[in-house]
Amino acid sequence: IGRGMDRAAVVKVGAAASASVCALFGGVALAQYIVAKKKRAGKKTRIIEMMPQFEKSTVHMKDPERVEQIICGLIKGGATKLQIITDFDMTLSKFQVNGKRCPTCHNIIDYSQLVTDECRQKLVQLKNQYYPIEIDPQLTMEEKYPFMVEWYFKSHSLLVEQRLQKNKLPEAVRESDAALRDGYEQFFERLQHHNVPVFIFSAGLGDVLEEILRLAGVYLPNIKVVSNFMDFDDNGVIRGFKGELIHVYNKHDGALRNTEYFKQLKENCNIVLMGDSLGDLSMADGVPNVENLLKIGFLNDKVEECLDKYLDNYDIVLVRDETLEVPNAILQKVL
Ligand code: C5P
Ligand code: MG
Repeated sequence: IGRGMDRAAVVKVGAAASASVCALFGGVALAQYIVAKKKRAGKKTRIIEMMPQFEKSTVHMKDPERVEQIICGLIKGGATKLQIITDFDMTLSKFQVNGKRCPTCHNIIDYSQLVTDECRQKLVQLKNQYYPIEIDPQLTMEEKYPFMVEWYFKSHSLLVEQRLQKNKLPEAVRESDAALRDGYEQFFERLQHHNVPVFIFSAGLGDVLEEILRLAGVYLPNIKVVSNFMDFDDNGVIRGFKGELIHVYNKHDGALRNTEYFKQLKENCNIVLMGDSLGDLSMADGVPNVENLLKIGFLNDKVEECLDKYLDNYDIVLVRDETLEVPNAILQKVL
């Protein structure tokens, strides 16, 4: 070619070449655009991706697709089909604030003026002995069970010995470092506003728990508390505990023991369950007529050792998350 080619031919070849380069780039750009558009379109249809709260590093899920499906089911059912079943200590209440551990219902009494120093020492000793067993990732729930019974038996006996007075409980709660998770106002107010029943199922101390809710101004009429309630004599002095003991690993028969409550709610077939212990997973066992069950777990302690187990069992795991932002975001979509 070279020499023999006239000017016009060179221009033509050049034009054709640049046109095809343009077409090539154009094609790539178009393809990229289509992919991006598809991605965007895909994003828009997924509810969990529309909630910025799910982008927090505290949020872990083994199967986001499943979570998506359950939340879709909850949204379809709306307020009339919804009910909440939740643990209290370290689920509704905070695990820590600025690195300092927050008290459980029991700890509020342990560290109050209502018990003697000698008794406090014994209670703390029991906690140091049994709490590590409660959260030991190497032991099964069955293995932990008898130790939990022992812990509760011993600590509750000490409380009875101390002749706790009913009218002193509010002050003990007021003076404690107990705190509900950030966003609790919105959580309870929204549920109350839409008349969603809330079942608080706690192996803590019912009288203390109720006082915490009251003090926070969120002990609303849609809430039912099932927990260990003290039995007081005519002078308001503790003489024991009412009903059967609820400990961390016998929550599976909760629905059985509260058949009347759950019978009334048989139309509320969508459940949001919240807990912090593997024992809390069974809180909805025996609830009749369940359609969608979303399990949200707070993983507070022994995070590295327990994460896999929690991911296998809870749909959403919130790691060291002291807020109710994720449950609130979901409830906002449903209600
Ligand atoms: O509300 P929830 O079921 O979580 O309450 C149980 C919690 O109370 C357990 O996690 C346990 O660590 C704590 N507990 C305690 N002192 C006791 C017995 C239980 O702090 N004597
Ligand atoms: Mg708990």
